[in-house]
Amino acid sequence: MARPCGPCIALAVLAAAATALLTAILLRPPETTAVLRALTGWERGKIVDLTLPFYPGMPHREALGDEVIEPLFAHKPGVGRIGTGAQLDRYTLVGQWGTHVDAPVHFGAGMRSVDQLRADEMILPLVVLDIHAAVQENPDYVVSMDDVRRWEEQHGVIPERAFIVLRSDWSKRWPDASAYFNTDAQGISHTPGWSEAVLRYLDLDRQAVAIGHETPDTDPGVVASAGTYPLESWHLRQDRFQIEMLCNLDRVPAAGAVAIVTWPKVKGGSGFPARVIALLP
Ligand SMILES: [Zn+2]
Repeated sequence: MARPCGPCIALAVLAAAATALLTAILLRPPETTAVLRALTGWERGKIVDLTLPFYPGMPHREALGDEVIEPLFAHKPGVGRIGTGAQLDRYTLVGQWGTHVDAPVHFGAGMRSVDQLRADEMILPLVVLDIHAAVQENPDYVVSMDDVRRWEEQHGVIPERAFIVLRSDWSKRWPDASAYFNTDAQGISHTPGWSEAVLRYLDLDRQAVAIGHETPDTDPGVVASAGTYPLESWHLRQDRFQIEMLCNLDRVPAAGAVAIVTWPKVKGGSGFPARVIALLP
């Protein structure tokens, strides 16, 4: 009987090990990735909706008119103008309605419309600048570079190509129209806003893709009430977009979340209701 050859045994063991490894790899169940874990984390409070529902009669500027819903088909007989057996409605509303996106063309003639904003601009690091304590003291408060520096001392330099939002807790006044617009006897609205210094830093130095806030305007109410929108106009003309009338910014961390910012692809649209969600780390 021939003696087993040493190298042959080593080769056989190696081959068996390789086969076992290959089998293990091939039969391994698909990995649950971090993204998938985040996307399926609703029950664990890992997904936060930053969007207000919109509806006829919600707080809005009188001049823009209210939303109208016309039932064309309705489940209840006699309600739909065309028929029954299904629900199908015609909606009439101004583009900038409820939580909404403003595209660069909103203030920059010839600039990009909502359909021209790219899909890669809709998934962004979420940076939350928190001014809600200052706003409680002073509804006319505007975010300062000191607020930005405070964020950066804790979390590092604001990442490039981010979605930077202003947490003022103003959305907690919704849907009380009088509290939300906070207009005084002279017709001046007292709502917090952005500042030129901060917007210039975010858009020019940090290459922000978008900004967002809980109020109806980028500019503080005392400026917007005069019918001029210098900060909104400047920001949009940098080929950036913005989301207005956000909510639940008190439920997301100052840093580390990812925002998914979406809206219908309206050809040539200057603005449209948006759906914004945050995926928490
Ligand atoms: Zn707007």
